[in-house]
Amino acid sequence: MSSSFLNVQGLRKSFGGHLIVLDDINFQMEAGERVVVIGPSGSGKSTLLRCVMGLEKIDRGRIELEGARYIEANPKSKKDNFVDIPVRNKVGMVFQHYTLFPHLTVLGNLILAPMRARGESRSSATERAMQLLARLGLESKAGAFPGMLSGGQKQRVAIARALLLDPKIMLFDEVTSALDPELVTEVEGVMLELAEQKMSMMIVTHDMWFAKRIATRVIFSADGRIVEDAPPSKMFTNPSEPRTADFLKKVL
Ligand code: ADP
Ligand code: MG
Repeated sequence: MSSSFLNVQGLRKSFGGHLIVLDDINFQMEAGERVVVIGPSGSGKSTLLRCVMGLEKIDRGRIELEGARYIEANPKSKKDNFVDIPVRNKVGMVFQHYTLFPHLTVLGNLILAPMRARGESRSSATERAMQLLARLGLESKAGAFPGMLSGGQKQRVAIARALLLDPKIMLFDEVTSALDPELVTEVEGVMLELAEQKMSMMIVTHDMWFAKRIATRVIFSADGRIVEDAPPSKMFTNPSEPRTADFLKKVL
């Protein structure tokens, strides 16, 4: 048991039993921190976020939120992981590619999970969804289908959908990578607003300029391990590890 807000202990994740993508990851963060994860393509950034979200079966380790263990590998590795769904539901995630249901309107997409996962009434979920849409400047899109929205609007709806479950932490996996450049700022703007409201976040991004702006902490991961963990001021100007410096030279 740890006092950390998010506590990842001894996490190992492999695919097909031989490709070890995450190897004994130990990572803690406090509430209100905004941790940006950087690293080469294929270094396991998405897998780490997916494990924290409970979307991957882990080989070893456990993950706790606010002291509550919600994911744990079963030592008899053939068995499924232990997953505490109510705690897991306090983690929200947004992906690179829009995951909205195309056959539902924006409002339909937003109220689905609150009604199903929390048993909220349609009228209550609708009221909260409309308030959130108004805050995001998307009120007029409530009745639109995802296919009618721009990429930036779709991503803002995806963020709104996650927020409606009142997450304690939000995970963002390259949420602007598929967007046209002029649409990136409207999505990053929503994330900066969440930062102002002290939302805890883990963010994977290739946009180092945005990383500097939003991060309270930066993690460089490579070869299944956390190579360096530092505040952005240190990470981007004077990294300790040669491996980090090498990577940053290529992307900055
Ligand atoms: P990143 O997000 O840092 O680019 P990923 O977490 O997506 O890296 O992938 C890490 C490694 O795991 C890569 O080698 C990738 O090919 C592999 N991988 C990811 N998902 C799967 C999967 N579902 N099945 C098999 N291999 C996977
Ligand atoms: Mg990825």
